[in-house]
Amino acid sequence: MSIEVKNVFKYYGEQAALNDVSFKINSGEIVGFLGPNGAGKSTMMKIITCYIPKSSGEVKVCGLDVDEESIEVRKKVGYLPEHNPLYLDMYVKEYLDFVASIYKIPNKKERIAEMIELVGLQKEQRKKIGALSKGYRQRVGLAQAIIHDPEVLILDEPTSGLDPNQLVDIRKLILDIGKTKTVMLSTHIMQEVEAICDRVIIIKEGQLVADAEAKEIQKEASKEEQTVLVEFDKETTRSQLNKIDGINNVREVAENKWLLSTNQTEDIRPVISKFAQDNGLLVLTMNKEEKSMEEVFKELTKE
Ligand code: ADP
Ligand code: MG
Repeated sequence: MSIEVKNVFKYYGEQAALNDVSFKINSGEIVGFLGPNGAGKSTMMKIITCYIPKSSGEVKVCGLDVDEESIEVRKKVGYLPEHNPLYLDMYVKEYLDFVASIYKIPNKKERIAEMIELVGLQKEQRKKIGALSKGYRQRVGLAQAIIHDPEVLILDEPTSGLDPNQLVDIRKLILDIGKTKTVMLSTHIMQEVEAICDRVIIIKEGQLVADAEAKEIQKEASKEEQTVLVEFDKETTRSQLNKIDGINNVREVAENKWLLSTNQTEDIRPVISKFAQDNGLLVLTMNKEEKSMEEVFKELTKE
């Protein structure tokens, strides 16, 4: 087990930013930590990385207690904070050298060169951090997070503020690094979770609202309603389609193309095929529409 969080509370004055949160993350997993703004994501991550103390509860990283063995925990954890606070006046190499010294890394020079290559900073390595684009600053942030070869990586919104190309690059990099490490990453971008995470933990107002495999959450949320997009070879009518058993919503989206919805749990595609057959129609295409992660997230976190 890489991360164990048990009944954690965190109060800022009167306000409970975390309210009885528990979850576990296995080694090797890439877990998406989701929630609307102010849900408590950054707070949880700061507790796991020993940046702030919890009010109560228990947190262990690689079996080590964050309060009692915080020095050991810090060695096992790499952290990319939300507003990645880099020293803008420092040169890339100088900064990484500084970080490597803090961790007392042997063979600093080689390790820094290795990191620069891994995160793709070769061309920028002689520049000042302040001269780099946001995407390249994030690469520097990732390099400092993994320079001491931690088992666990905590990434707080690693792709926020990146343009689409940078976003794809950084995601690839995280996937790559994630092959050998446990990764917990917070985000509010659902496609990101779909693209890189095995599992999703969702919090809202300091409380856990979901913890499951990304696919399972989607499946569960799609249960109550299914929508099928079907294309027939010929014209048919709305009233005819409405007669199909179990269909409660019919929408024509293009010529001979219909969106049919039901709140039945059973797959309605066979019924639609049968309808086509009985009415002399051919089904050209038929697809069951999965609810997007985005919709699932909205549903789980709405008021
Ligand atoms: P998220 O990262 O999910 O957006 P945060 O963990 O940053 O959420 O914040 C959770 C809640 O705690 C918010 O209501 C926020 O205003 C509050 N909060 C965060 N940091 C502090 C702080 N240092 N002092 C007081 N309140 C804070
Ligand atoms: Mg945050």
